[in-house]
Amino acid sequence: MSASSPSSGPTPLDFEKIKANSDGSYTGMIRSGISEALTSNPYFAAGGGLMLLGTGLALARQGLVKSSGFIYRRMLVDLEIPSKDKSYLWFLEWMSQYKHRSSRHLSVETNFVQHDNGSISTKFSLVPGPGKHFIKYKGAYMLVNRERSGKLLDMTSGTPFETVTLTTLYSDRHVFNDLLLEAKQLALKAREGKTVLYTSWGPEWRPFGQPRKKRMIESVILDENVADGIVNDVKDFLSSGDWYHKRGIPYRRGYLLYGPPGSGKTSFIQALAGELDYNICILNLSENNLTDDRLNHLMNHIPERSILLLEDIDAAFNKREQSEEKGYTSGVTFSGLLNALDGVASAEECITFMTTNHPEKLDPALLRPGRVDYKVLVDNATDFQVKQMFLRFYENEEEMCELFMEKFRQLNLGKVSTAQLQGLFVYNKRDPESAIRMIESLKNPNTVF
Ligand code: ADP
Repeated sequence: MSASSPSSGPTPLDFEKIKANSDGSYTGMIRSGISEALTSNPYFAAGGGLMLLGTGLALARQGLVKSSGFIYRRMLVDLEIPSKDKSYLWFLEWMSQYKHRSSRHLSVETNFVQHDNGSISTKFSLVPGPGKHFIKYKGAYMLVNRERSGKLLDMTSGTPFETVTLTTLYSDRHVFNDLLLEAKQLALKAREGKTVLYTSWGPEWRPFGQPRKKRMIESVILDENVADGIVNDVKDFLSSGDWYHKRGIPYRRGYLLYGPPGSGKTSFIQALAGELDYNICILNLSENNLTDDRLNHLMNHIPERSILLLEDIDAAFNKREQSEEKGYTSGVTFSGLLNALDGVASAEECITFMTTNHPEKLDPALLRPGRVDYKVLVDNATDFQVKQMFLRFYENEEEMCELFMEKFRQLNLGKVSTAQLQGLFVYNKRDPESAIRMIESLKNPNTVF
């Protein structure tokens, strides 16, 4: 049996050895005893070795993690685009059209447009799906990581929150800016010459369908000086920001267009938006789930360069009265609307257009300056409008126009809306004579051609 056998413990011989190795003092003896036990005991020796190896590996791993974190921080740079941000959709759209990418997982985004004739055209965009994608942009390699939050839901749309994180070398960080600018320009180009219609979606504004082609302001024929009057007023308002700010007056202006249906009120507002290069936010006040709070929130968060359009403003509250009798309490209250109109406090300009077919039903409180600053009657067709419309549909047909006007006056047709005139002229697209023959159809406002 070996002298250092663990089972038998130290023998007197061992003590002799220790004594011989030490300097003779007690502390020297203990020190050399421990070192003897560690070196000559195989279990201790193996355990110590393993321990050292483990510690070394752990240290090395920690060092690696730290240094990779350090390298990551020093050499790489991230850009996070949350799905709430405007540039999120711009980026996805940009990436769907970007050629130098290696995406294996795509997801489809379908846009469909229903045309006036009922046909539907569909456009599929293959945008990068959730996961990692590599792209090379302006010589820089970039990792694009689209991630979906499993837990958080966007309550307004019911879709999960998402983020796209772009990672590139620190030295290439300037490409982020270029990329975002390019994505924005691409999005704006798609809207160039178009008017975006927004509708309320929960507490936020969402584009409604595809952007529409701008309507030319000359294509809406209002009575003499009516259109010019409004256009000049709006343009003057838009160039008076400083004037308002210096005087501490809220920078907003309300317009009311009133008159019979089919006289071109809505068409004119759309054309005006096109002329100013603005978009339109349409709010339906009779919507049942629109509350005073939501209205207030929406009116204070109108997308920039947009006209707020409140259509058939009288109908909302008539309906409310009826509903109240039946016991419904939802919907916007009249005082809620007044508060929202008064409370719009944006630094940007706010242009509100309201339309009604029944101005007599409106509460005078709504018509106060600050809420409605400019009201104008958009009426049935006057002789001036009939003539203008005829010549717009049948260019250079001056003589025919005279004949048409003569008959129009003779027949004493009474109230004819510009929409009715449009119907007659569209039906006789290339045939002014036929339009003259059919002029009596204008007697009945509900003629279906
Ligand atoms: P409103 O809002 O006054 O009820 P719309 O603007 O909705 O009328 O007009 C309905 C239709 O009639 C549209 O297709 C529009 O093109 C046409 N229309 C009505 N008035 C005019 C007008 N003054 N000039 C040109 N088109 C008109």
